[in-house]
Amino acid sequence: LSDRLTSTFKNLRSRGRLSEADIDATVREIRRALLDADVAVPVVREFAAAVRERALSVEVSGALNPAQQVVKIVNEELVAILGGEGQRGLALAKNPPTVIMLAGLQGAGKTTLAGKLALHLKEKGHTPLLVAADLQRPNAVTQLKVVGERAGAPVYAPHSGVAGEDEVPTGDPVAVARAGVETARSREHDVVIIDTAGRLGVDAELMAQARDIRDATQPDEVLFVIDAMIGQDAVATANAFAEGVDFTGVVLSKLDGDARGGAALSVARVTGRPILFASTGEKLTDFEAFHPDRMASRILDMGDVLTLIEQAEKAFDAEQAEKMASKLAQGDDFTLEDFLSQMQAMRNMGSMKKMLGMLPGMGQMREALDSFDEREVDRVEAIVRSMTPAERRNHKIINGSRRARIAKGAGTTASAVNQLLERFEGAQKMMKQMARGGGMGMPGMGAL
Ligand code: GDP
Ligand code: MG
Repeated sequence: LSDRLTSTFKNLRSRGRLSEADIDATVREIRRALLDADVAVPVVREFAAAVRERALSVEVSGALNPAQQVVKIVNEELVAILGGEGQRGLALAKNPPTVIMLAGLQGAGKTTLAGKLALHLKEKGHTPLLVAADLQRPNAVTQLKVVGERAGAPVYAPHSGVAGEDEVPTGDPVAVARAGVETARSREHDVVIIDTAGRLGVDAELMAQARDIRDATQPDEVLFVIDAMIGQDAVATANAFAEGVDFTGVVLSKLDGDARGGAALSVARVTGRPILFASTGEKLTDFEAFHPDRMASRILDMGDVLTLIEQAEKAFDAEQAEKMASKLAQGDDFTLEDFLSQMQAMRNMGSMKKMLGMLPGMGQMREALDSFDEREVDRVEAIVRSMTPAERRNHKIINGSRRARIAKGAGTTASAVNQLLERFEGAQKMMKQMARGGGMGMPGMGAL
């Protein structure tokens, strides 16, 4: 896929404007990428049409080449459908307890999520109570108790020994849910999380039960939990729950698997409900706020190195890159000055991170940028500036007293100067290798 897109983009590159044929070719690839990611077919169709229309009407930008422009549109559309920039958190009730009800198919990850939410809320200073309203499976209550114990949150359940429990008719999930909320109120738990039963497929009885629980407890949030691996069934399932219980938000589970997240796009598009959280493993801490931009990247997973390199070149300044290349080709040394300009180029790229954020699947590169600390450039700059020209040309002459002087001038420690020199030597070594092997024009990257 990545290769295919890369070649499409290569073709698009270096032409002045977006032609209809260019756009159609790209849109075809985008469609394929979305289908590969298991986005529902009708959603793909609609999405492709929207992108095509926008691409056709867009002004040709001077800053971006045509390929980048199409990617930008695709990414923007994806992010918008997935929830845009402003993700909301859980809606908390003005008058506690906040009631959160979980709904979804069996195995979707509701019970696990109950524990994750409890832990998450506890960390924020809340006092959640878990309510076991899944009385369908024999061990569902036990499972919730295990999860609750791990999260350090009490569980209200039939036969739990909680006072008042005797009045709860075992086997009636609606009564358990209602009594659970009452218990939370009387014991001053400020959040109640109601775990409910699921079936393997959507079924009328299950849906009626979920609706009854909802009506009995008046939740502030009904979270629809959906397994990201569900693929093309996502739309039908989401629709059934939207009609059946009408959820307020979505939690995508099992995002740690191979699912490429197409379900996210399908569900968001079809139901218009926000995706609030992502579940990424079996441990209670495998849980995070949902990030539309990351999901957009995952869905596309284009990892388009070509475009990335274009960005890198831009930041690095082509002229400078050329100078450096010829310098190295002549066997000249890579100096501390060069090292510094590379870091400055990295800083420029850092400020383009947002821009690069639209280029998905960059893996390592993205990580390098994410972990890149802009203040680090200032520190390096301060140190290099404190060196004499001779020291900059040949760092080997930097002895103890020079090091102390440089550190003092840069307002740092001698060991920081040493660290910088070590990193520089690493970069220098790599540059030598690159000069021999004729690598690409963005050296120093790996040294950071
Ligand atoms: P429920 O039937 O909806 O309550 O689903 P469970 O919470 O019991 O989860 C079903 C299975 O999926 C269990 O084995 C969980 O450990 C597992 N599970 C839940 N969430 C995740 C997740 O985000 N990632 C992975 N890998 N497994 C999960
Ligand atoms: Mg369960």
